[in-house]
Amino acid sequence: MSNSDMAFQQISEIRNQLRCLGARPAHEQRILRLWSQAKPQNSGSRPLESFMPAALRQALPQLTDRLSNLLRLQSTHPAEDGSVRWLLALQDGQTVETVGLPRDGVCVSSQVGCAVGCVFCMTGKEGLIRQVGSAEIVAQVAFARLHRAVKKVVFMGMGEPAHNLDNVMEAIDVLGTVGNIGHKSLVFSTVGDQRVFEQLPLGLVKPALAVSLHTTRAELRAELLPRAPKMSPVALVEAAENYAQQTGYPIQYQWTLMEGVNDTEEEIEGIVRLLKGKYALMNMIPYNTVEDLPFKRPSWERAAEMVRTLHRRGILTKLRNSAGQDVEGGCGQLRARQLKAADHQPQQVRHEAPIHFVKAKPATVL
Ligand code: SF4
Repeated sequence: MSNSDMAFQQISEIRNQLRCLGARPAHEQRILRLWSQAKPQNSGSRPLESFMPAALRQALPQLTDRLSNLLRLQSTHPAEDGSVRWLLALQDGQTVETVGLPRDGVCVSSQVGCAVGCVFCMTGKEGLIRQVGSAEIVAQVAFARLHRAVKKVVFMGMGEPAHNLDNVMEAIDVLGTVGNIGHKSLVFSTVGDQRVFEQLPLGLVKPALAVSLHTTRAELRAELLPRAPKMSPVALVEAAENYAQQTGYPIQYQWTLMEGVNDTEEEIEGIVRLLKGKYALMNMIPYNTVEDLPFKRPSWERAAEMVRTLHRRGILTKLRNSAGQDVEGGCGQLRARQLKAADHQPQQVRHEAPIHFVKAKPATVL
């Protein structure tokens, strides 16, 4: 990959190049708008000659090629519930997973690998390989829009967005302005990091916030998320609640439910203590059992019982099935499978094989 291709990973670099070609702010915004919305650059009734500088116009086909070459589809994996998981190759050959979700959502990856090392996650097993550039993040949305409508973007794929904050904020800025995604429909998902609570309120576009809590017990959290910032669950909820009050959006707490780990009565008490009276929604997602990892999915009945109990105790809780993607517990499985296959059969990466990730019940809300 050439240096100029690498530079194209960042939106700031694309903007620089456009300016060098004589683009004014309106041209720049137009090009980013059409790209992020997966529309052709000659869209609209006015001929480009009537408003675009010649140098920019002439460079447009090459520029469009470079933007569409940021990602290459490696394989497509539809699930029974209408979601679809794509394995996408970046220009240096690294791969990320992007998921088209039911109801016009897309889940994007912000890193190749992840340094947090959650013990139940395949992505966490390989550590951080590299950051995904802001343009590569927007390119995932543009790619998804070639296949389906996208009105919501969640940063819940591979990686911890807080560890790639500048790129994620730059992508959020584009998506929430020219990208035609409502601010509330951009969901920044984090294990919790002080920098997020400081930076997010300062952005022009303020996304909704999802916090991966998984347990209310600080010592268990340190075991499950070994390299997450050392914020106690109490401090985490306090900082998140501040953000909820500033933005007027509720915090979505994510809880990957694992049998015998965090499905206990003690946790129910802990959740009630932490979240009672907070502007919050708890999402319980039964773990998607992964070969090679020792954690188990609890029975649907046990998960439903926990949700009912929390509801009775005044905590707004939803039980969500994996919807083809297991929010975090399943992220990285596809990439891991592909790497494993490549290890054994370097010449034979299979394409377009349908895989059913979960026994599909539709996303269920109690
Ligand atoms: S669950 Fe999320 S934060 Fe944890 S290791 Fe996996 S990708 Fe990273």
